[in-house]
Amino acid sequence: MQNVLCDLCGEDQVRELAVINSARIVKCMQCGLGYVNPRESPDVLARIDEEYYGDGKIIEEVSHFNVGSTRLFLHTLKLISRCRPSGRLLDIGSGGGFFLKLAREYGYTAFGVEVDEDGCVVARRHGGLNIVHGTIFSAQFDTAFFDAVTLLNVLEHIESPSALLKEVSRVLKPGGVLVVTVPNLLFGLVLLRCYDFVTTVHRVRDFRNDFGVFHVPEHHYFFTPATLRAMLAELGFQSIKVTNAIPINNPGFPVWTAFKYLSYWVSSVVTVAAAGALIPNYSITVTARRP
Ligand SMILES: [Zn+2]
Repeated sequence: MQNVLCDLCGEDQVRELAVINSARIVKCMQCGLGYVNPRESPDVLARIDEEYYGDGKIIEEVSHFNVGSTRLFLHTLKLISRCRPSGRLLDIGSGGGFFLKLAREYGYTAFGVEVDEDGCVVARRHGGLNIVHGTIFSAQFDTAFFDAVTLLNVLEHIESPSALLKEVSRVLKPGGVLVVTVPNLLFGLVLLRCYDFVTTVHRVRDFRNDFGVFHVPEHHYFFTPATLRAMLAELGFQSIKVTNAIPINNPGFPVWTAFKYLSYWVSSVVTVAAAGALIPNYSITVTARRP
């Protein structure tokens, strides 16, 4: 196990939020970033990822993701097209390439990086996509190459989000747009407190592992609108806007899907009432531009 410093401010003073599935989830006392600490060593994490995505599971996952994510994908393309109606688009963690396929249909030259080889195989079957097996670092794209970069439910899985976003900033053209969607720590904390309350009254099955926000050990970081905004601002991004993310349908889990839609509608009303200052939705979408 390794001790991890805060990826946003570099401090190591933390408060424990919860222990889920043996993972200790903490919050930085300085800046509020949530993360798993201590963390498994890189080789153990690689094995966990391999077990998680192995045996064709990624193909099954991305197929489901494709079916359930169309509205999120279309919304993402709408956000990008307002700033950059055409050009080169890079999706990091492109999975089976379903978002990129849609981006290509909308006129973008589509590039993807994906660490899972099976995902790359599925993505290449769509044809016309530029898929690199690896990471944005190993891909070594030219500086100021892309008009748009997307990170759809990916940043929470990364070992150092700030290092990745710095590389994103390098490969984006000046004025290029970044769209990030991540689970929202605010929502996760509310759900956790409700769960603690229920378990003190009733004996219920331990469903903590099912929480989408605290999906450990795959998720390493837990962002709020404020911490993601701060990280992007620290790296020089401008015109940063945080909104309620469009819910993803989970085929086979209608109750969970309905719950996410309820969260989205309630949160949207709260956000309007608070003049944009409060976004408690399950998931958030952030757009930003490189100066
Ligand atoms: Zn911090």
